Amino acid sequence: MAYQEDEYLQIAEIQHFAFCPRQWALAYMEQQWQENVLTIEGHALHDKAHDDSIKEKRKGKIIVRGMPVASGELGVSGTCDVVEFIEDMAGVKIPSYQGTYRVIPVEYKRGKPKEGEEDILQLTVQAMCLEEMLATEIPWGYLYYGEIRHRSKVEFLSATREHVKNMLGQMREYLQRKYTPLIKPRKACASCSVKDICIPKLGKQKSAKKYIEGRLNE
Ligand code: SF4
Repeated sequence: MAYQEDEYLQIAEIQHFAFCPRQWALAYMEQQWQENVLTIEGHALHDKAHDDSIKEKRKGKIIVRGMPVASGELGVSGTCDVVEFIEDMAGVKIPSYQGTYRVIPVEYKRGKPKEGEEDILQLTVQAMCLEEMLATEIPWGYLYYGEIRHRSKVEFLSATREHVKNMLGQMREYLQRKYTPLIKPRKACASCSVKDICIPKLGKQKSAKKYIEGRLNE
């Protein structure tokens, strides 16, 4: 079954849902708070070290920045930071270019690798969109972390692809039920971008960290 465009979720939603389903619900279901999160994401985007050029051709390689992608099968759309097309006999044809190319998505992050797998899931869903759009297989991509200036290879495993599909299914179910998951305090709450909205009590505490530790010890 293919989704209609007005039913599409945004690729960015996957990251929020993987980090905390409640954070996702506050950001994307409860409209009055969405602006807050989108502003945070906007800052994050501006901080990325983007080149001005959209397309760049080097020897045997085409680099496309800010490439819009979508999948009717998954019902998602969004933008890839960078997609590299590497000349390869076993690759696919790309409109306006001669030859065939292997497709490699690359996502840029300001910080360092996270404990959770939200970045991997985001890159995997991008690859799944590109596979559907370009009728090809994409076995791996890269996550670049600015803080450690390192590019990590990410293999798109079938278990991760299944996880992406299950999460999208769960998000749609919550949307249908208009269900906002309850607070489950944990260490990650201290670095959550919507903690002040999620836990109003935090404002009266000395620090988010203290509040979380207190709740965890209850
Ligand atoms: S503060 Fe914690 S429970 Fe609330 S949205 Fe953030 S991570 Fe989730």
